[in-house]
Amino acid sequence: MPLRPIQIHDTASGGLQPLRPEQSGRVRIYACGPTVYNRIHVGNARPFIVYALLKRFLVSQGYAVTLVSNLTDVNDKIYAAANAAGVASTDLAVAMGDHYRADTDRLGLGRPDLEPLATTSMPAIIALIEDLIGEGAAYEAEGDVYFRVRADARYGSLSRRDVDEMDQGEGDDPVGLKLKQDPLDFALWKATKSGEDVAWDSPWGRGRPGWHIECSAMAEEALGVGFEIHGGGNDLVFPHHENEAAQTRCARGRELATIWMHSGMIELRGAKMSKSVGNITPLHEALDELGRDALVLLFASAHYRQPLNWADDSIEQARAGVRRLREIGRRLTPGLVAPPAPSAEEKRAVPPSGDPGLDGFCAAFSEALREDFNTAAALGRLWQWVRGANSILDQGGELRDDQLRTMLDVLGLANLLDPHPSDGPDAAALDLLAQRQEAREVKDWARADELRDALAAAGWTVRDGAAGAELVRTEGTR
Ligand SMILES: [Zn+2]
Repeated sequence: MPLRPIQIHDTASGGLQPLRPEQSGRVRIYACGPTVYNRIHVGNARPFIVYALLKRFLVSQGYAVTLVSNLTDVNDKIYAAANAAGVASTDLAVAMGDHYRADTDRLGLGRPDLEPLATTSMPAIIALIEDLIGEGAAYEAEGDVYFRVRADARYGSLSRRDVDEMDQGEGDDPVGLKLKQDPLDFALWKATKSGEDVAWDSPWGRGRPGWHIECSAMAEEALGVGFEIHGGGNDLVFPHHENEAAQTRCARGRELATIWMHSGMIELRGAKMSKSVGNITPLHEALDELGRDALVLLFASAHYRQPLNWADDSIEQARAGVRRLREIGRRLTPGLVAPPAPSAEEKRAVPPSGDPGLDGFCAAFSEALREDFNTAAALGRLWQWVRGANSILDQGGELRDDQLRTMLDVLGLANLLDPHPSDGPDAAALDLLAQRQEAREVKDWARADELRDALAAAGWTVRDGAAGAELVRTEGTR
């Protein structure tokens, strides 16, 4: 089966671009990870989830994917936060890196294939700065090194801004402003200064790298240049990604990545979530509150480029969605063929359901993802499948769960179809159900209602059907 064409929105060109791997069937993704100076919040978690899900989808389509996501563990923010807390900056970065891995592990979407650290990539970072100086695209000034923005004729092509209207956001560094040959230039290396408790030796003296050069070096070291997808949140387009692109272009003579993919922000009822807003939910608290299933479903419910609305109603919708999926999972027959480690070919061959309508929804699910990874549209098809399946089951038909499992697996939610030890009603609930049946048989409706209420209090809904009454876990009780 040939690989189906996939299109992804590219920020540099401003439109959809076909995914054209340099090596057939191999996709390399670099996604900028967090700066580890505090616990990550749900806004930081969005890129992690988007690229983890993108990898799952590409693998389901038969691609071999390498996902690299860095941790920025040396940075002004880390020095500042460590100073404020009275701890060593390396200790803070290690502790927050551990929290980041533990918090994102709880999402259950797997880890990136490689998670490089700036502090362990120093030789590659210093070598890249030396190459830029050699190319005339960077210069040393009193122990600092700056990138010469006007050395790059294509500077501004990613964020599509006029070079004269740009601000590197380094205005709070008056010494740097004096050392720069042009206010547009940005730092590749900064000489160590007071308040910074960790520094590295370099050809320009002791100091530390700038944020942008870290990612150019780590991405190249892990994936080479000219890889397929560079990702991150859309707050990174300028200056971070513009500068990454410029650095690699000037040092290597080619583009760092062919597609620049950016995810949208989280909005708290219309207000963009950033660190300047006080009411940000940390990821671990959101996981405690919602559980990973509802959280992953909530993130998948918005197109990755659109803002994700973090509000009571969207959270409640995600919770209800999880309950609906568990419920249909109980009604479907487990798939007959479930190869433990299917080849890529087998994975893509979704078995027909026996119903052309359902087969169509399942095909449309993948189609939506091939068109700019539209998880929102794909979920729409998935819910159509669920509705169609429920009506077939209501009419006494039987259906296997293979198609739904295949779709949910792409979203990291196939576990919702697994039998759960606490799924079935316990002996006490079955006893109440039997008493209710007896009450109904003698037409003692008041007693039957009492027993129904007792079951409801225990978390069970009674569903009366042609084949008798059955107990269904009440929404929101697990
Ligand atoms: Zn980065």
